[in-house]
Amino acid sequence: MDGNNKSLGDLSTNFWKKEFRCPCPKCRKKKVRVSSLLLFKLEEMITIIDRGLDLHRPVIVLSGNRCIEYNLEIGGYNDSAHVPNPDGEAADIKVRGIKPIDLGLIAEKVGGLRIGIAEWGIHTDIRKPSPSKFWIYESSIIYSGRIQNESLLEFYNIVKRG
Ligand SMILES: [Zn+2]
Ligand SMILES: [Zn+2]
Repeated sequence: MDGNNKSLGDLSTNFWKKEFRCPCPKCRKKKVRVSSLLLFKLEEMITIIDRGLDLHRPVIVLSGNRCIEYNLEIGGYNDSAHVPNPDGEAADIKVRGIKPIDLGLIAEKVGGLRIGIAEWGIHTDIRKPSPSKFWIYESSIIYSGRIQNESLLEFYNIVKRG
């Protein structure tokens, strides 16, 4: 990575509050709160990605904080890790040129993250498995708990093989 090119966000090296802000109009001026452990893990992912590609690829945050009302509106779970309590503990992310499953495997390598694989990217959060560590967003959500909870790739292959 080019050391001269180092960015500095207002949350962590690569992340900005504006990326994590709940997008609803009510939250325009609300304080953005993101778990420092989650940020640390996302930064670890960037380190792995940049090392692998030998260039810097930004992690794009699709959804960070959500207020209770907005979370309800978009059909999120009651107890969503996106709702700050007091800090937001989830991020939906994508990286251009990296398939969601490959991004998920990078998150698995970092460890301590629950990972949801979607078409648009992945959900990551720092909550404890309960019991699932992984899930896949299909027409409904398929959880790893009773299928294969130790290896994301094995779980993914089982689900995708049908
Ligand atoms: Zn909101
Ligand atoms: Zn999410």
